[in-house]
Amino acid sequence: MITLALSKGRIFDDTLPLLDAAGIQVLDDPEKSRKLILATNRPDVRVVLVRASDVPTYVEYGGADIGITGKDTLLEHGSQGLYQPLDLQIAKCRISVAVRNDFDYAHAVRQGSRLTVATKYVAIAREFFAAKGVHVDLIKLYGSMELAPLTGLADAIVDLVSTGNTLRANHLIEVERIMDISSRLVVNQAALKLKQAPIRRLIDAFAAAVAARNPASQSPS
Ligand code: AMP
Repeated sequence: MITLALSKGRIFDDTLPLLDAAGIQVLDDPEKSRKLILATNRPDVRVVLVRASDVPTYVEYGGADIGITGKDTLLEHGSQGLYQPLDLQIAKCRISVAVRNDFDYAHAVRQGSRLTVATKYVAIAREFFAAKGVHVDLIKLYGSMELAPLTGLADAIVDLVSTGNTLRANHLIEVERIMDISSRLVVNQAALKLKQAPIRRLIDAFAAAVAARNPASQSPS
C-alpha cells in the first residue's frame, strides 16, 4: 500500500489532474465526505487528508509514504529527512510583503528602521528582513493576515499572493516579492527503499504529467 498525504483545497484540486494522468482516481470528494482516508481506483494507493503544515511531518515519520506540499510549508516547517524529487508546478503563487496603500514602505525599511510584520511565515519573514538589515518585530498569525495592517496590529504582512485580488479588496499593495512558490512532491526516505518500484513508478508518472502540462519548463528546482 502506498499512502499519499494531501491537504484539502488548492493543492488537492490541482493534484487531481496529475493523479488522473498517473492512472489514479480518488473515489471520494473531500468537500462532501468527512472521511480522512480516501480510497482510490487502485487498491494499492490511498490518500490521507492532513493539514497543509502537517504534510512534511506525516511523510518524515512514515504516516504517509509520499506527500504534496508547498515550498512555503517546506521552508517554514523544515524538510529534514524528506526526499524532494519533483517540482509539480501546481498551486503556483508567490510569497510577498504587503502594506496598506497609504503606508510609506520605502521610508520604513531604511537601514536601521523597525517594522512590525504579521505573518504565518515567521521563519521566512525573519530571514528576508535580516538579509535586508531591517529590524522587525514579528507577530505570528494563523490566518486572515490582511486584517493586521488594517487594524493597526502590524505595518506589513508576509503572505501568499496569487491573483492579488485579496490584497486589492483590502486596500493593500504588494511591495516586495520574496520568492515564487509551487508545490513539491516529498517522499519518505525509508519508503523509497522499501517500496522502491511502485514509488519510482509513481514519481515517473507524476514527472511525465508535469512535463506534458509545462512543456517550456521541465527542470526541477
Ligand atoms: P489571491 O487573492 O488570488 O491573491 O489569493 C490570496 C489568498 O489565497 C491569500 O489568503 C493566500 O494566503 C491564499 N493563497 C494564494 N495562493 C495560495 C496557494 N498556492 N496555497 C494556499 N493558499 C494560497
